[in-house]
Amino acid sequence: MHSFDEEFAGERGRRNLLLLAAANFFVIITDTVYQISFRNALLCAFALVVLVGSRNSSCRNVGSEEEKLRTARLQMVDQQLRQRGIRDQRVLQAMAEIPRHLFVPAAWRSSAYDDRPLPIGEEQTISQPYIVALMSESLLLSGEETVLEIGTGSGYQAAVLSRLARRVYSIEILPNLAETARERLANLGYDNVTVIVGDGNYGWEPGAPFDAIIVTAAAPQVPQALLDQLAEGGRLVLPVSLEGEQHLLRLRKVKGNIIREDLGLVQFVPLVGGSKREANQ
Ligand code: SAH
Repeated sequence: MHSFDEEFAGERGRRNLLLLAAANFFVIITDTVYQISFRNALLCAFALVVLVGSRNSSCRNVGSEEEKLRTARLQMVDQQLRQRGIRDQRVLQAMAEIPRHLFVPAAWRSSAYDDRPLPIGEEQTISQPYIVALMSESLLLSGEETVLEIGTGSGYQAAVLSRLARRVYSIEILPNLAETARERLANLGYDNVTVIVGDGNYGWEPGAPFDAIIVTAAAPQVPQALLDQLAEGGRLVLPVSLEGEQHLLRLRKVKGNIIREDLGLVQFVPLVGGSKREANQ
């Protein structure tokens, strides 16, 4: 983003210098000594006006780019989330504030608030905003929880969770994605998120039990370790492939029993890695 603005300002600066040089050249070859000093004074005044104008307009451009993204973000929250039934004010607020455009590759920045998933490299995707909101809302967070995410990807879902819970652990199996997300989250100040490289099929024993667990890749079955690491009353939200379709499920642990709800059809990249024990949920 900065490079675009700097480039733009640089372009204007170069054009202004060329204009001034051409104007001075014209004065030198055509005027008398008396006229030179008079015209030069005029030219200096003109140069000052042009320079101040170009500064202001390049500042306006930095501002307008940010403003455009902010408008797109607020529209996304209203049209894609609120109007489709997302009710949790904390989820709406978090997604209105978090700069999703800083979680996608630069080439996709202007599409960051579109109603779709986007590529983030390594054949992975950042989920569609509505799905991030739906899954976040389904975790029923109040702000005090410890949450585990499987599939850090860009780190965007983790950033949203960081605003909804007390502590967030996020596991990513691809080291490059994990490293980029870790740096990004740290630079943006999401300091209650810890990114771990590993296979999320096994959960993350050192942080267990978790009040909520979210899996952002489709599993063939519910990984048993995730149910084991769920606290009493805890919620596990994950897409599971059933008969060729992916269903978004919410599993709740109530007095040791698992209550299962189907939240609808979704489309996610697959959860890879191995799980030795699976639960038949
Ligand atoms: N939540 C992410 C999007 C996730 S895409 C975001 O907000 O951007 C799914 C991610 O799950 C990918 O990055 C993929 O590498 C990761 N993944 C797949 N299988 C995994 C596993 N077994 N353990 C941890 N991460 C896994």
